[in-house]
Amino acid sequence: MRKGIGAPPVRKEQRESTMSVSPGVPVVCRCAVMSAFHQPIEVREFALPTALQPGETLVKVELAGVCGTDVHLHKGELNVPLPLILGHETVGRVAALGSSNARDWLGRPLSIGDRVSWTVGRTCGQCRYCRVYRLPSRCVNRKAYGVTTPCGAPPHLLGGYGQFHFLHHNTAIFRLPDDLPSESVIGAGCALVTSVHGFEKLGMRWGESVVIQGAGPVGLAALALAKESGARPLIAIGGPADRLERCKRFGADITIDIQEVRDATTRRKLVLDATEGLGADVVIECVGMPQAVVEGWDLCRDGARYLVLGHYGDAGPIGLNPHLITRKELTVLGAWGSEPQHWTAALELLRTRRAQYPFHELITHRFALDEVNAALRKVAAWETGKAVIEPNR
Ligand SMILES: [Zn+2]
Ligand SMILES: [Zn+2]
Repeated sequence: MRKGIGAPPVRKEQRESTMSVSPGVPVVCRCAVMSAFHQPIEVREFALPTALQPGETLVKVELAGVCGTDVHLHKGELNVPLPLILGHETVGRVAALGSSNARDWLGRPLSIGDRVSWTVGRTCGQCRYCRVYRLPSRCVNRKAYGVTTPCGAPPHLLGGYGQFHFLHHNTAIFRLPDDLPSESVIGAGCALVTSVHGFEKLGMRWGESVVIQGAGPVGLAALALAKESGARPLIAIGGPADRLERCKRFGADITIDIQEVRDATTRRKLVLDATEGLGADVVIECVGMPQAVVEGWDLCRDGARYLVLGHYGDAGPIGLNPHLITRKELTVLGAWGSEPQHWTAALELLRTRRAQYPFHELITHRFALDEVNAALRKVAAWETGKAVIEPNR
């Protein structure tokens, strides 16, 4: 049986008799709770579960990434249930396991103290999208930690902005190898796994010209994957200058600063000059602004693929000319969230290519749990690289 908010403390010896608990796991823990949009987030105490069912896991949070999506969620731009513990990019250590023979998604044994991360989305495996269409990211029963999992009822601890995180049985957990720092995983955040998902649909061929629209976290993740896929030339369009410098560090051959080259026609000319006058083989939208799609289609060569990655939030409609799709024979693609196999690819890229793609260096700001509001404000004002919450600091 689990205890809810305000439940009487459970004696430690009582809990130890019902599940495997690492020493030092408290009876209650603190979490940052969003009870209303636009309002300050408040730290509240919740009782930890007193027993875990088979497959369930309790994790002590080490790092929780602050994603741009969290800012949008706080502004109420997506219709998510409240109260909510934000945080969908999380690394922590296993504090309790519901099974004695627990394993991660790749079948590796899980033990107390193991450092882990996990896919944010849980799917049912039974709906038509899961079974027939093999599109679990669109599962009709999909739940995403820190996004669509309210914390009002037990087990409460369903987002990264808290000292502990509860994981349901159908969570794809990944034990992190010792040579993969937590900072790499959180620095890459959900941007990298989302990009891996998108690239799966692109079917990149070696030597294709690629334009990345956007130099933020998603743009950088797409850039790394394009580089790994043999993109030549690899062009990044975005700003400000320090973000473009980072794009060069991650392998961009050409960068176009939208604050210097303000005119889309001139930007198009620069892309045509770099692609034998034709336009790019692949153009990837990582901006989140509808206008970028209008410009992006103009940067495509005939027969190109155009991938929309940056529109997780709904920024509204815009006038587009479908004639271009017909005349240019464009392929327009989208990708929503990620699936466990995208995590295996992303984690292996982060482990093996840390020198080439130093995602860990993106972390610029660290906040305690009580500083969540300041963290969100700084991220909203674009004053950070990657910001992280350290709930147990
Ligand atoms: Zn995110
Ligand atoms: Zn499903």
